[in-house]
Amino acid sequence: MHPFTYTRVDDVDAAVAAVTTDAVARAVQVPEDAAFIAGGTTQLDLMRDGVWSPGTLVDISRLPLADVEVEDGDGDDGTVLVVGAAVTMADLARHAAVAGLDVLRDSLLLAASPQLRAMATIGGNVLQRTRCRYFRDPTVSQCNKREPGSGCAAVEGTARMHAVLGVDAGCIALHASDLAVALVALDARVRLHGPDGVRTLPVADLHVRADDDPARDNVLTPGELVTHLEIPVPDARTGYLKVRDRASYEFALTSAAVVARVEDGVLAHVAIGLGGVGSVPWRATRAEEVLRGRPASLALFEEAAAAELADAFTLPGTDFKPELARRTLVRQLRDVTEVTA
Ligand SMILES: Cc1cc2nc3c(=O)[nH]c(=O)nc-3n(C[C@H](O)[C@H](O)[C@H](O)COP(=O)(O)OP(=O)(O)OC[C@H]3O[C@@H](n4cnc5c(N)ncnc54)[C@H](O)[C@@H]3O)c2cc1C
Repeated sequence: MHPFTYTRVDDVDAAVAAVTTDAVARAVQVPEDAAFIAGGTTQLDLMRDGVWSPGTLVDISRLPLADVEVEDGDGDDGTVLVVGAAVTMADLARHAAVAGLDVLRDSLLLAASPQLRAMATIGGNVLQRTRCRYFRDPTVSQCNKREPGSGCAAVEGTARMHAVLGVDAGCIALHASDLAVALVALDARVRLHGPDGVRTLPVADLHVRADDDPARDNVLTPGELVTHLEIPVPDARTGYLKVRDRASYEFALTSAAVVARVEDGVLAHVAIGLGGVGSVPWRATRAEEVLRGRPASLALFEEAAAAELADAFTLPGTDFKPELARRTLVRQLRDVTEVTA
């Protein structure tokens, strides 16, 4: 591991002032960067592996951002959970306000391990770097994420845990957060605090697709800190299904977050996030368009899932994914709506 300076900050303005480059958004390594560290479960691995060695680590784990508040929403929102970025995955999963919100709770509890969930924060979770083994191995020289223009070793290598949506032959790195998949289906927002003030973005607009720019993970500007997540509690049933190679402590091969309300047999509300398939937490807008306002049926669910995966970019290692993703989505739509025919 390269030498680095460690500094701990106690207030948000000091944190923002301490990071002056876009290191958190950019995957390219520049040693003089300063970067935030929260639980450290991604950041320290990257530093140990020599993938990303910022010159300064700014510890944000003691910032006063560890509360979960239940607030009345504006406009279309009913209740909104306002969750501090330093809340751990474990604390959010067992919070009383999350007990009835299955999609959120299960996206947290089906991720990582109890030890990791006790350390890992929700801010760090949505900003975690890809698990692409070629990105995480600095001895591999072809990686457009680390070295723009160098190529993509994954395209010719073992590509099982890789993406098929929002990718092309330049980069097939997968976005790995389960929580972010649930958040896009919940129309959640992220509150950012930067040198120019505070702004709020839909989580669906936070990440950058690999086929747009593999070297950028997200749209954060220099010094911008995620301070909170705003999660509207929907008037709908919800669920999260994660399919993986083993039953615990494993990333998703595919997953589906579904938020749906059926009225008189018709899908009055539907919002879908897909995991394990996208270079970003994938909002399944094509499937939603097929479903919205139509009578719920298994045939309709099949049509919607097929529409979403129609343009998947597959390689020999990932060619099983569109079919698995279709089945995952259909099953979760069926389970959440309780429609069986
Ligand atoms: C073995 C293993 C298995 C895992 N399995 C899963 C899984 O199944 N599903 C899943 O979703 N995740 C999984 N993870 C990922 C894990 O959930 C993340 O590592 C964790 O959530 C990151 O949170 P952290 O607080 O430790 O972030 P850190 O490692 O401290 O930070 C991660 C990144 O976010 C930046 N950052 C952190 N907080 C902020 C903030 N508030 N504002 C701006 N930037 C910030 C940091 O600079 C860094 O770039 C796994 C991890 C491991 C090691």
